[in-house]
Amino acid sequence: MKEPSKLKRTSLVTTFLFCALLSLAASAKVQDTPPKEEGSFRSPELVELVKLDRMLRLDIRYATKNSFVGRPVYPSARAFLQRPAAEALVRASRTLRKQGFGLTVFDGYRPWHVTRLFWELTPADKKQFVADPARGSRHNRGCAVDLTLYDLRTRKQVSMPGEYDEMTERSHINYAGGTAEQRRLRDLLRAAMEAEGFAVYEPEWWHYDYKDWRLYPILNLSFSEIVAGGMKAKGKRL
Ligand SMILES: [Zn+2]
Repeated sequence: MKEPSKLKRTSLVTTFLFCALLSLAASAKVQDTPPKEEGSFRSPELVELVKLDRMLRLDIRYATKNSFVGRPVYPSARAFLQRPAAEALVRASRTLRKQGFGLTVFDGYRPWHVTRLFWELTPADKKQFVADPARGSRHNRGCAVDLTLYDLRTRKQVSMPGEYDEMTERSHINYAGGTAEQRRLRDLLRAAMEAEGFAVYEPEWWHYDYKDWRLYPILNLSFSEIVAGGMKAKGKRL
């Protein structure tokens, strides 16, 4: 076999270096700080949901080992939303109460650094289930909520067509499998939320964005900073 010419060798080395750079870029750590956004935003007013409505229940999986992360990522089981979104959620809760159901919240406001962690932990083929930290999540703006229904008589969460945070097609809002009753409950939750200005994220039956999410900045405050910063709910009930 002929030895590669000097030119050929040079181009081989260049190709190798280029590929090495590409793979380095692909494996590079994502940014350390939230993305900077242009424009003006509303001042955040994150309120603690259970302070507005005692019927709301919490099942904050990210404060436990019982999530796809496998360890707690929140120091406490709390849920916050921007006030208009929180008040809309309370109205949805009241509507559902008349039909025999309450709302169980899995997650509300999420600090940006947690979104970055989720991104890093999620394999490439499942990334549609997590927000890209380069763009932030609507949870980071305090305008997205993950939730399900519970039965007011039994106090138990209802059975939906798929589990919370399940990264399969069963999570899609239009998934046609499961039982008729599971689909009815999923659609009941959707109707109550949509009536109050929330839109479902179609790949996830449990995730709802409040209509004004664009008006709020991406935040990276911890729960304790929210409370210490005076954004604590003042106990006002609707
Ligand atoms: Zn969500």
